[in-house]
Amino acid sequence: MTDRKGELAANLAQVERRITAACTAAGRKREEVTLIVVTKTYPASDVRILSELGVRHVAENRDQDAAPKAAACSDLPLSWHFVGQLQTNKVRSVVGYADVVQSVDRARLVTALSKEAERVGREVGCLIQVALDAGESARGERGGVAPGGIAELAGLVAAAPGLRLGGLMTVAPLTGEYAGQQQVAFERLMDLSTDLRRTHPAANMVSAGMSADLEQAVAAGATHVRVGTAVLGVRPGLG
Ligand SMILES: *Cc1c(COP(=O)(O)O)cnc(C)c1O
Repeated sequence: MTDRKGELAANLAQVERRITAACTAAGRKREEVTLIVVTKTYPASDVRILSELGVRHVAENRDQDAAPKAAACSDLPLSWHFVGQLQTNKVRSVVGYADVVQSVDRARLVTALSKEAERVGREVGCLIQVALDAGESARGERGGVAPGGIAELAGLVAAAPGLRLGGLMTVAPLTGEYAGQQQVAFERLMDLSTDLRRTHPAANMVSAGMSADLEQAVAAGATHVRVGTAVLGVRPGLG
């Protein structure tokens, strides 16, 4: 048995140093950036250790893995974020544990989330996932709405009972004009967030940046970074 707690503590400290340094470089306060640890593919025992180490936000991208993990950790003071592509038939399960769904990208999903949130009497935070590489009307390959579709979808979320419009989320595109240009991509997301806040001032969350590009996200103004590998290690297989 390796000392998993020691390993996670060391990784977490390293990520914490990176976030602090990025904040300092950008002239931002450390409190302006929230770390969300992406625990996908890792067991509930790791989530428990992370909680002991002071982590308060975790994220998952597949309901079939997340649901049992969240149930096993329901005694912990954690906020659960759902960050994967979400099918409407999984909405009932996801609303059972998710505090925030970061991958809202179509009207049908808004309707389903609202209906279920109302049914169980919960408020679910929603971020609009933006596909920066999608055409003006298309949706991204990995989910997300094109920039031109944000306003309409945000309006739907804001008007939907049981849902709270939190802001925007993106994953830096791997291909197209933003490939290898994470900071430019994240700055574009910030501009879109500025536009959104003209009509929805409270929708101030900007979720961007992962293990490889959290510095660029913090530099651009992200309020939430989603870090998996740098805390938990390289995921076995796909994930
Ligand atoms: C897996 C995942 C992350 C974390 O990625 P790492 O490179 O492991 O830090 C962040 N956001 C989303 C949407 C993910 O699916």
